[in-house]
Amino acid sequence: MAARATVALIGRLALMPDQIADPSDLRGDCAQCFGLCCVALPFARSADFAMNKPAGKACENLQADHRCGIHADLRAKGFSGCTVYDCFGAGQKVSQVTFGGQDWRGGPKERARRMFDVFPVVRQLHELLWYLTEALSLAAAGPVHPELRRALEETERLTRQTPEELAALDVAAHRQEVNVLLLRTSELVRAGARGKGKGRGKGKDRRGADLVGARLRGADLRGASLRGACLIAADLTGADLTGADLIGADLRDTDLTDADLTDAFFLTQPQLNAARGSAGTRLPGTLTRPAHWTSGR
Ligand code: SF4
Repeated sequence: MAARATVALIGRLALMPDQIADPSDLRGDCAQCFGLCCVALPFARSADFAMNKPAGKACENLQADHRCGIHADLRAKGFSGCTVYDCFGAGQKVSQVTFGGQDWRGGPKERARRMFDVFPVVRQLHELLWYLTEALSLAAAGPVHPELRRALEETERLTRQTPEELAALDVAAHRQEVNVLLLRTSELVRAGARGKGKGRGKGKDRRGADLVGARLRGADLRGASLRGACLIAADLTGADLTGADLIGADLRDTDLTDADLTDAFFLTQPQLNAARGSAGTRLPGTLTRPAHWTSGR
């Protein structure tokens, strides 16, 4: 089913470069990273990752040049989780800024260990930068823009701390502070998307809802809160998610064929990568259509 035509219900602002982080800095750039996600993170054997790997041990598919030896065949070889993941630019930040371009290979063990400790912390901070940057682009969030801007600057400052400071950072506390602002942003933006027309599910608060396998084909979810909702394998074919908050929603195997996500917000590339979709799925301009949606692999 083709997505229904919608009038843009949430306005996005063109922001000055010095007001926000460059969104392109908030996507992984593997060429500038020492393969940190393939070393620092632990993986358990599952449908997403074909073997067990402890934190701090290099994946056996990681090559000496920090590239993946099975990159073209990740899904076919049982590593689909690797095609879903994105570090939000934390890999290049830790490699090139925090550690000044010093590789974990060939250096002191202590430096490598510190690098692997710091990477997940910076990844969380960069994810917050992604949300804060998007919040600042949303016209309806204007009343909280000054606070969002301060939070963005503070988060960016935190990412530039020394390895020791980053390792000691209470990142959960910082996340909580930022989340208060993101919630306020969500209320303002969704309020603008509500009250226009009527439809199943529209504007509803489905925060944290268990929607595993839910049949939401063609649903009007404009202005809905789907924060942290579990939408695994749900059918959202042709659904309208204009002005819907998708922060933290689990979209693994969610069918987004022909859905309209153009003005959904707090949606990330890893969420999209985990979902299914089509050439007809409408996406926000900051996100990329996953290759497996159209290649069938
Ligand atoms: S399979 Fe490739 S992308 Fe996945 S962790 Fe190993 S080296 Fe990295």
